[in-house]
Amino acid sequence: MKLLKYNIWTIGCQMNEADSRHLGSQLEAIGFAMTEDPEEADLMVLNTCVVRQQAEDRAIGRLQFVSALKKRKPELKVGLMGCMVGMREAPRLQKQFPFVDVFMPPSDPGPLLDFLRKTPDDDEDARMEDIRSKTVQNAIQDEEYILPALSRHNTIQANVPIVLGCSHACTFCVIPYRRGPERSRLPQDILQEIKKLTAQGVREIMLLGQIVDRYGTDFDEPYGLAELLLDVAAIPEVLRIRYLTGHPNYMTDRIIEVTRDEPKVMPHFELPVQAGNNKVLEDMKRGYTREDYRVLIERVRRICPDNTINTDIIVGFPGETDEEFMDTYELIKELELDKVHLAKYSERPKTIAARKMPDDVSHHEKERRRLLIDELVDDILTRKNQRWLHQEVEVLVESRHKGKWRGRTPHNRLVFFAADENMRGALVDVKISFTSPYSMQGELVRVKVPAIPQPVDVSSVPMFHRPLKETLSAV
Ligand code: SF4
Repeated sequence: MKLLKYNIWTIGCQMNEADSRHLGSQLEAIGFAMTEDPEEADLMVLNTCVVRQQAEDRAIGRLQFVSALKKRKPELKVGLMGCMVGMREAPRLQKQFPFVDVFMPPSDPGPLLDFLRKTPDDDEDARMEDIRSKTVQNAIQDEEYILPALSRHNTIQANVPIVLGCSHACTFCVIPYRRGPERSRLPQDILQEIKKLTAQGVREIMLLGQIVDRYGTDFDEPYGLAELLLDVAAIPEVLRIRYLTGHPNYMTDRIIEVTRDEPKVMPHFELPVQAGNNKVLEDMKRGYTREDYRVLIERVRRICPDNTINTDIIVGFPGETDEEFMDTYELIKELELDKVHLAKYSERPKTIAARKMPDDVSHHEKERRRLLIDELVDDILTRKNQRWLHQEVEVLVESRHKGKWRGRTPHNRLVFFAADENMRGALVDVKISFTSPYSMQGELVRVKVPAIPQPVDVSSVPMFHRPLKETLSAV
């Protein structure tokens, strides 16, 4: 009997990557196998992002590709998932893309699994009928399938959503409309998922939320991100923990202290400022001022002095003058943050900004501002990374890249080094011999925790996970 194959195309934030991984493992639980080749897929899922126009354009381009494929292969089943579908866009999208069989909101593979369980047409493959006889519950509860087959014992870092949705209303942001209101996952579900992940080789856990430092604020019991970090750290197989994305208004001393005191929690903060001018911040409805943000950074540095602080910035927000932009520039220069996830403002349908604020900064000007910040951050990072030159840094090795092993330091700096033997998943010390703004190189000094044995061919590992914010920023 022919094995049915699935292909998942993912764009967007780490939350989408986690959703795709969950979906892949659930599809495998009911009998599908992963393929990287759309031509041989029986089921194609597009997991989409609309946080920026560019991401939405790419999703539409991919839909056109799938439409052409389905004309040649009418039996192909197509699922559309993620923020493009949101909580209520399916009827509109159904008219626009009639070849799509099923629509799924973010983090909810239920509609696809229900679709696959429906009574089959008489002429359909018996294998599909077999798949349809299995329940969604079986898929979710099957311990074996927490990672798709090719990722098992090959995925070093896994994203684990802990807060779904967002109840804020930043005027530029489409996420609350598409991912629904904020809700925290129960700690026992999160811890169980992490134990299954570590049993399959995962060594670093990234806890995710649109506002991750609000975790647990909807619980009756006083249990928040700090408590969860300690519980995750108590799992022996977890070597490292990170969390993103924080919101400046919710970063408590307790979270910062746990980050400082618990060795498994990396000293790495993601605190989006978005703009450094108070009028722009007010127009964005971010709920803090540039002075508040400065005090926050001072507090983080006072409590946890040896750290990395990354931020997000949007340039060219409606009405942002050159002078207002320069306030953002000066704030980054003054605070010397470690990394800036930069985005040029793009109007998102239904947001308050799209409805009430004309997108009046030209493309050319947005690009000029983006480049200015980019150059500034290059200078800051060039200087800051030199502190590690000739020093030993601890690296968790993630993958092999162009003949070298590649991993990250506790401060989330990318490090490359050479070694003949398998290093995947090893915790090693590397002496740094070269630094640049975005990566460092060095020589292996010692192995502290051995690699994960018997890795499969890395070229066959599906991209359900990409390193931190190398794609689009979600927040
Ligand atoms: S930017 Fe972040 S905090 Fe603001 S609405 Fe979007 S997801 Fe929520």
